[in-house]
Amino acid sequence: MKWCKKLHWQIIIGMVLGLIWGLFSSVVGLNEFTSGYIRPFGDVFITMLQLIAVPLVIASLVVGVASLNDMTKLSRMGGKTIAIYLVTTSLAIIIGLTVVNVMQPGKALPEDTRASLMASYSQTVEGREEAAEAVQDRNIMDFFVDIVPSNFFDAASDNSNMLQIVFVALILGIGLVKIPLQKGQVLINVFEALNEVIIKIVDLIMKTAPYGVFALMAVVIVDLAGDDLGQALNLLSALGWYTIAVVIGLLLHVLIVYSSLFKIFSSMKLKDFFKAIQPAILVGFSTSSSVATLPVTMERVEKNLGVDEEVSSFVLPVGATINMDGTSLYQAIAAVFIAQALGMDLTIAQQLTIVLTATFASIGAAGVPGAGIIMLVIVLQAIEVPIEGIALILGVDRILDMVRTAVNITGDAAVSVAVAATEGKLGELHFDEDIIQEKE
Ligand code: ASP
Repeated sequence: MKWCKKLHWQIIIGMVLGLIWGLFSSVVGLNEFTSGYIRPFGDVFITMLQLIAVPLVIASLVVGVASLNDMTKLSRMGGKTIAIYLVTTSLAIIIGLTVVNVMQPGKALPEDTRASLMASYSQTVEGREEAAEAVQDRNIMDFFVDIVPSNFFDAASDNSNMLQIVFVALILGIGLVKIPLQKGQVLINVFEALNEVIIKIVDLIMKTAPYGVFALMAVVIVDLAGDDLGQALNLLSALGWYTIAVVIGLLLHVLIVYSSLFKIFSSMKLKDFFKAIQPAILVGFSTSSSVATLPVTMERVEKNLGVDEEVSSFVLPVGATINMDGTSLYQAIAAVFIAQALGMDLTIAQQLTIVLTATFASIGAAGVPGAGIIMLVIVLQAIEVPIEGIALILGVDRILDMVRTAVNITGDAAVSVAVAATEGKLGELHFDEDIIQEKE
């Protein structure tokens, strides 16, 4: 069977089997086994991806910048990238607000469910509140100051410092362009070789992806269901309308905004785009982390979508850190849902405040699991909705995190196509890189 040799099918099979195992494990009481012996495989898969993220960004960005012969191109590309990121994020929030105001999922939440959710999750909310306070004390200028690290090794020691790493790679690349070629060539060769090696490593890690996502899915189900699958299903159905609203919003965003982006900037079809990057979306879905998925996204965007490294090596790491369309859309729906469930009617001014704060909250959210709900605290405070209301949505957040992360990654890849097209740096589409048992 030729189809099951394709990487994305193997990942999908891994996910489905993981889901089945997770359910089975909850029903027959094998959760301890799953947590103890299956979880580590998922952890190692994510850690491997995280391990190569920083060296990959540095090597590919230095190579990308060093190949530029015109430095004004860099600032033009940077400006374009940030502008498109801001526009798509704002559109995501507007779509989210439209969906939640039309569907009104908060009004459908029964009174007794509301009370029991508030009671069972109130303690968990406190931790989120503290984490958000730390972020909230910072202003926009701190954000700029933070991009410049005082020590390179310090920056490179933490994957959440991606913007600092991008900054270091940029100035290194610029420095290399400014010195005579014969002096810099040796360093450029080193980064080129490093880049090639890491791309090969991504290929190798991706061969283990079906097993990694099997473990990740099994663990998500076990963590969610615990020993009482019935209770988890009840929770899911109580919050079903809210969950559906978020998923519909995300789908609309992908269908409307990304396909318009392609129409405006390139001739790429949404269907082909998905076909070319699906392993990255599937890994994003299973890991719930844009940053951990970055190496896969970069590989797919370059090899399969045909985006030149000059563009992808800048647009994608920046996107994994600041461009989160899925997160911002989800924050808009979650904030209004909580207000509706608590019987508060939001004014137009409050809804406009959501557009502004959710844009910043999503920029500030790290590309790691659960970051979006922490930053939701900031949105709720801005519109004066009690943050304790987060208790209402915590139960299904893990699942929605998976879906919104997949959209975050899709958004980064779509914008890289748009920027590359405007720079004349978009090559041919390829679908043939995903045969897993390729001959070495
Ligand atoms: N998990 C998301 C990401 O990595 C962020 C979020 O929690 O919304 O993109």
